[in-house]
Amino acid sequence: AKESGKNRYWLYQADMSLIAQNRLTLEQRLRRALERGEFVLYYQPQVDVVSGKLLGMEALLRWKHPEAGIIPPLKFIPIAEETGLILPIGEWVLRTAIAQNVAWQRKGLSHLRIAVNLSGRQLLQENLVERVKTILEEEQMEGKWLELEITESVAIHDLELTIRVLSEFKKMGVHIAIDDFGIGYSSLSYLKLFPIDTLKVDQSFIRDSLHNAENGTIVSTIIGLARDLNFLAIAEGVETEAQYEFLKEQACTGIQGYLISRPLPAAEMTTLLNLVHEN
Ligand code: C2E
Ligand code: CA
Ligand code: CA
Ligand code: CA
Repeated sequence: AKESGKNRYWLYQADMSLIAQNRLTLEQRLRRALERGEFVLYYQPQVDVVSGKLLGMEALLRWKHPEAGIIPPLKFIPIAEETGLILPIGEWVLRTAIAQNVAWQRKGLSHLRIAVNLSGRQLLQENLVERVKTILEEEQMEGKWLELEITESVAIHDLELTIRVLSEFKKMGVHIAIDDFGIGYSSLSYLKLFPIDTLKVDQSFIRDSLHNAENGTIVSTIIGLARDLNFLAIAEGVETEAQYEFLKEQACTGIQGYLISRPLPAAEMTTLLNLVHEN
């Protein structure tokens, strides 16, 4: 018994060093990816439920790996967060999204707000507000064209810090969205503490909203809550016409999802903006 225990220990150690090694190389590979410009942003439109007009878009990160192809964010963002690499990557995302939006605005395509996801590490980062301000100034975009998305759990991690940081953003005209709303298991009292503009209804509720009465109720409750608190409500992950009809009945502000469009590379988004502009 002692022997096998020992074997198990060695096995465990071997496993651990393998994992540690993989961690290290993935971290190195992420660092290199940033240096080599292998990250790209895709853009997903958000559309007004009533008018069908574009309300804005969300920038979504991808890693364009030379061999593996497009790698989705959930495959590498957790490691980026753990290693702190999310800070330089997040800064790159902010600058790229803002520069792209300014380029679209200068081409005379409609002026839209661009939403960027902020990780917890970024919110805790010292000088985040200053960094964003600098990027806005350097790229010459007004704060009102930027929306920052933070999840509930990130927002309530340190209430005082969040209130302070979000209030600074508010003063710059930057919009704030609470992402994945409804799955954070938190009390609702924080909603009145933060200067929030938008609640994004988590896609897990939308997915089943028509076949699962509880989810339908949750969706309409969140939309009602947003309305009462004067926030916009954006439903994520809208894939079907029926979901769209339901959200329209509930007077949801906007929708985002495959029904309208998948996230698009910048060039395809430009084509879409041109089409919208001409019509
Ligand atoms: P999220 O912020 O909740 O983004 C929405 C996700 O839903 C995106 O996945 C989008 O492609 C996907 N989606 C949109 N419409 C539909 C639909 O109709 N059906 C389905 N099934 N999915 C839909 P994506 O791009 O893989 O991003 C996953 C997550 O990675 C994001 O979730 C966000 O938490 C994180 N993320 C993405 N980009 C960034 C970034 O630049 N910074 C940080 N910190 N996180 C990011
Ligand atoms: Ca988001
Ligand atoms: Ca979300
Ligand atoms: Ca999510």
